[in-house]
Amino acid sequence: MSGKVAIVTGSNKGIGFAIVRGLCKKFDGIVYLTSRDVERGKKAVADLEKEGLHPSYHQLDITEDKSIETFRDFIKQKHGGIDILVNNAAIAFKHNATEPAAVQAEQTLAVNYFAVLNTCEKLFPLVKNGGRVVNISSSAGHLSKIPSVALRNRFKDPNLTIPELSELMQQYIEAAKQGTQAPEWGNSSYAVSKVGLTALTMIQQRMLNDRDIKVNAVHPGYVDTDMTSHKGPLTIDEGAAAPLFLALDADDSVKGQYVWYDKQITSWERDTRSAY
Ligand code: NAP
Repeated sequence: MSGKVAIVTGSNKGIGFAIVRGLCKKFDGIVYLTSRDVERGKKAVADLEKEGLHPSYHQLDITEDKSIETFRDFIKQKHGGIDILVNNAAIAFKHNATEPAAVQAEQTLAVNYFAVLNTCEKLFPLVKNGGRVVNISSSAGHLSKIPSVALRNRFKDPNLTIPELSELMQQYIEAAKQGTQAPEWGNSSYAVSKVGLTALTMIQQRMLNDRDIKVNAVHPGYVDTDMTSHKGPLTIDEGAAAPLFLALDADDSVKGQYVWYDKQITSWERDTRSAY
């Protein structure tokens, strides 16, 4: 049961894969590469093995209760706890996607907000006091992406609770179903999901303060992955740099923050930094 444990969700490819690679190199403990698809996960593990790295593997689909619970019970039984949890798994519709806004809203929030929340609620009891949680947000998760001042005030309310935030997310889905979302919420389900995740990060930090757990949200930069159709200029290892910094090296005082890919703490409420 001894030894430290790090977990990265959705890490069979892209930034999550590079976070596992970095953890295998720098973290003094066991690193779990997890994936919803076992074949893709095993292939990723084999690729890292070829580099002389030795991640452990477990299946984890963050949208499936059973999958999360099986993983949680396995980790509890085998290791007793978690030192580092990186919530990386996410989806994004392409800009030219033809699915209606309502479908994009429901599916994107189901994974990027509700599934991450559910995964956290099931795994947080295992996170050790003093542990670290890194939520992979985005520049799209900056509060300025929400046009409505009233909504922005709701998101940044320091007394906002998780049920209230989830209700806000649900309101967005309902607005998308009515086709009335654009003026208040903007045109991107992905942005709403990541604003939700960033707001969730702030609430989670408040809830975990008494266990000395640090929870931060990070924009990894615009990265060359399947999600960006390989248009991002950063390599996956460059995209993993700020998440790895928060998981391993950031000062203990860094908590409940929104961090840019250059590792700088950035205001979530005021204007974004320039360029991706
Ligand atoms: P990616 O290459 O598309 O990888 C996404 C990963 O998430 C894949 O491993 C995918 O698995 C997994 N995933 C999706 N749904 C899942 C589920 N239900 N359960 C478990 N895993 C699931 O994307 P990426 O660019 O590396 O993005 C990683 C993170 O960075 C995301 O949170 C993304 O929003 C964020 N981000 C990326 C950029 C960028 O420029 N790339 C910028 C800002 C933020 P499958 O292979 O099975 O689909």
